[in-house]
Amino acid sequence: MDKPRFDAIVVGAGPAGSVAAYTMAKQGLRVALIERGEFPGAKNVFGGVLYRKPLEDIIPEFWKEAPLERRVVEQRLWVLGHDSVVGFSFRSARFQDPPNAWTGQRAKFDAWLAGKAEQAGATPIYETTVTSLIREGGRVVGVRTDREDGDLYAPVTVIADGVNSMLAKSLGVHREWRPDQVSLAVKEVLALPRGVIEERFGVRDGDGVTIELVGETFGMAGLGFLYTNQDTLSLGVGVMVSDLREKGVKPYQVLDHLKQHPEIRRLIEGAETKEYAAHLIPEGGFDAMPPLAGDGWMVCGDAAQMVNAAHREGTDLAMLSGRLAGETAVACHGTGDWTVGGLGAYTRAIRNSIIQRDLKKYRGLHGLLAGSQAETLFGQLPQALNDAVYEMLSVDGQSKQDKQKRAMALIREAAGGTAGLAGIGWRGWRAMNG
Ligand SMILES: Cc1cc2nc3c(=O)[nH]c(=O)nc-3n(C[C@H](O)[C@H](O)[C@H](O)COP(=O)(O)OP(=O)(O)OC[C@H]3O[C@@H](n4cnc5c(N)ncnc54)[C@H](O)[C@@H]3O)c2cc1C
Repeated sequence: MDKPRFDAIVVGAGPAGSVAAYTMAKQGLRVALIERGEFPGAKNVFGGVLYRKPLEDIIPEFWKEAPLERRVVEQRLWVLGHDSVVGFSFRSARFQDPPNAWTGQRAKFDAWLAGKAEQAGATPIYETTVTSLIREGGRVVGVRTDREDGDLYAPVTVIADGVNSMLAKSLGVHREWRPDQVSLAVKEVLALPRGVIEERFGVRDGDGVTIELVGETFGMAGLGFLYTNQDTLSLGVGVMVSDLREKGVKPYQVLDHLKQHPEIRRLIEGAETKEYAAHLIPEGGFDAMPPLAGDGWMVCGDAAQMVNAAHREGTDLAMLSGRLAGETAVACHGTGDWTVGGLGAYTRAIRNSIIQRDLKKYRGLHGLLAGSQAETLFGQLPQALNDAVYEMLSVDGQSKQDKQKRAMALIREAAGGTAGLAGIGWRGWRAMNG
């Protein structure tokens, strides 16, 4: 029997893989899109905020048909103390038209996006796990799947199999991620009537709010989130695996703790848990990125650590990398050069894109957060900030000068003195500026 042959194989129908498949199929390449889930998105997890720009560049006005939840018109950052919150927020009608971002659900969104790749001509091969890459003379020439007679062949394989990326590991491009290069996130989807959500969050007509949460993670490096969907809320928290291990804390304990916070409890009161999920997030940043292309292969999205944790961007970078991989494959299809020489154009495209530029800008962040300073940054300082604001706002007969001194002392103390505070500021600035 003839071996099944394609021009390209894509492993994983997440945002990276489906966009890669769409880009290639649209240009007439014969593409196999392989996904282990029952359908694309079936088991995928994110916060989740989906950004307009990367997908609009590929499918103009996609929001008119894509299954999205709410337009994000307000973004809040809450620094949590034990029983209080210091909040920052930005709200603008400019985020309505055109929207900058929406909340979404992966089960619906991924299935829709993979459907676009199918409509463009990609062959869907779902409920199928790629078990290994087939190599000839060091070159990837296809994939082996868990189906009987399930070998498929193509001159290029786009590896978009997510954070665990067994396939990239099998190529030797990276090892198992270190515990300080990944965080473990848990998320609940909580059902509430639409009207209750709109009243509690002060929105209407499809508008929504995101809240990022800092603090109350037992002094571990991590962030929580609470996002509005149409008739559900997404509440979750991701914490660095190295910190979870060191403290012996389970991620669900952190989430349960957040749910008890009075300000969060107020927003989720009466909600019914519809889903509970856990997933890793690659947070190693620029220095953890593996080689991106070789003879017969390219690697995209989470499999290549393309997540900007500081801005909770992952799906956008995954989609952009999928597009760049797809465009590179289309060009190589023209020249017939599937070696690292031809596919290396993908590495250069990533280098010149916001993916590498943004990850490089924040390359120091990982070191800052993964170190011993987590306790200060995610434990002591958030509480001290809350205490300092409480001090400043309480009218209790103390002079404002005395109050200001006390508030500053609280912050300094939490940071380990004036030198500690200056050090955190300096290291923070450097960590976020390349
Ligand atoms: C809790 C959480 C919150 C997040 N919040 C946000 C957010 O708000 N905004 C944002 O932009 N990003 C967010 N992210 C990050 C974002 O989800 C990822 O960066 C993005 O999904 C990466 O896309 P991907 O296509 O590379 O990988 P994935 O989405 O992981 O897709 C990989 C696909 O490959 C399939 N697969 C894996 N192995 C195989 C195999 N061997 N054979 C066949 N198929 C396989 C999987 O089933 C999956 O469908 C969040 C992540 C988490 C975990």
